[in-house]
Amino acid sequence: MPDIIRLLPDSIANQIAAGEVVQRPASVVKELMENSIDAGATSIRVITKEAGRTLIQIIDDGLGMSQTDARMSLERHATSKIRSAEDLFTLRTMGFRGEALASIAAVSQFEMKTRQVHSELGTLLIVEGSDVKSQEPVACEKGTSIAVKNLFYNIPARRNFLKSNPVEMKHILEEFQRIALAHPEISFSFVQGDELIYDLTPAKLSQRVVSLFGKSYQGQLASCQEETELMKVTGYIGKPESARKTRGEQFIFVNQRFVRNNYLNHAITSAYENLLSENSFPFYVLFVEIDPRHIDVNVHPTKTEIKFDDERAVYAVVRSGSKQQKVAV
Ligand code: ADP
Ligand code: MG
Repeated sequence: MPDIIRLLPDSIANQIAAGEVVQRPASVVKELMENSIDAGATSIRVITKEAGRTLIQIIDDGLGMSQTDARMSLERHATSKIRSAEDLFTLRTMGFRGEALASIAAVSQFEMKTRQVHSELGTLLIVEGSDVKSQEPVACEKGTSIAVKNLFYNIPARRNFLKSNPVEMKHILEEFQRIALAHPEISFSFVQGDELIYDLTPAKLSQRVVSLFGKSYQGQLASCQEETELMKVTGYIGKPESARKTRGEQFIFVNQRFVRNNYLNHAITSAYENLLSENSFPFYVLFVEIDPRHIDVNVHPTKTEIKFDDERAVYAVVRSGSKQQKVAV
C-alpha cells in the first residue's frame, strides 16, 4: 500500500481553523476589536455594510505593525502575545492563539492598512482567501485599519448558513456592546450603512451603560464591590424592579473578557433572594479581577468559556458582591 497521509496546504488549514473562529460576521467584529484593544487603542471605529456581509471595517489608533509584522500577522499561530506555554497562565491580552487574522483572511477579501507611530509610511496588504495579492507602502494614519469584504465569498455553504440581516446585526451589536462595556475608557463608534448607531466617548461605567442601553437604566443600577485575597468583583446590578421578562443584558467579565458562565449567573441571581419575581431577569454587569494563574482561558476557540481552579470560591465572592448593593446611580 502506498502512503496516503498528506500535509494540508496553509490555505486549507486556515479555512478549517476559520470554521471554529469565524462563525459569522459578529465573530470578525469581536476578533478585530479585541486586537485593537490589545494594541492599546484609545479609539475604535466599527463600520459594517449589510450586517457585515459585504463589509466589516475596524479602524484603530493603536500601536500599528511594522511591514514584516503586518505580513507575519496573517500566518497561522503567529502572535506577539505569548512566547511560551507558561505565558498562558499570566495572560493579560484578549488574544493569544494567533489564529484570527489568518482565519479571517482565508475566508474573505481582506485589506489591511497599518502604521506604527514612528514610521513615516505604513503598509497596505491585500489578501484574498489567504492569497497575498499585493503589499505596498502607503501613507496612512497611525494605527491599523482592517476591511473584511464579502465574508465567506469562497465558501458558499458558510455564506448560506448566515441568518437574515437583522439577526446577524443583533449578533454584531452584542459583540460590540460587550467590548464597549468592558472598556469604558476607550472611545467607540459604530456605523451600519449610513447610520451612526453608537458614538461613545470615554466615560464612567455607569454612563457607558446608559449610552449603550438607554436612559431607562439611569437610577436603576446599584453598585457592587467585594474584594478578597483571591479576587475582586466590581460593577452594577439592576434593582429587582427593573428586571425584564426576557433574558436581556447580563454581562460577566473576567479580567475584562466577556464570559458565559451559568454557575456565576446563578450566584448573582441568587443574591436577589426572593426579590425577583418568577421568570424575570435582572440586568447586571460585573467585572471579576483575578490572577490569571487561577483561570484557564484556553478551553474554547472563541474564549467565551473559561475555567476557574476554585469555582466555588469565585461563586461565593460574586454572590456576596452582588448582595452588597450600595448606592443607586
Ligand atoms: P492573536 O490576537 O491571538 O495574537 P491574531 O491573528 O488576532 O492573533 O493577530 C496576530 C498578531 O497581529 C497579533 O498578535 C498582533 O501582534 C498583530 N495585530 C493584529 N491586529 C492588530 C492591530 N489592530 N494592531 C496592532 N497589531 C495587531
Ligand atoms: Mg487576536
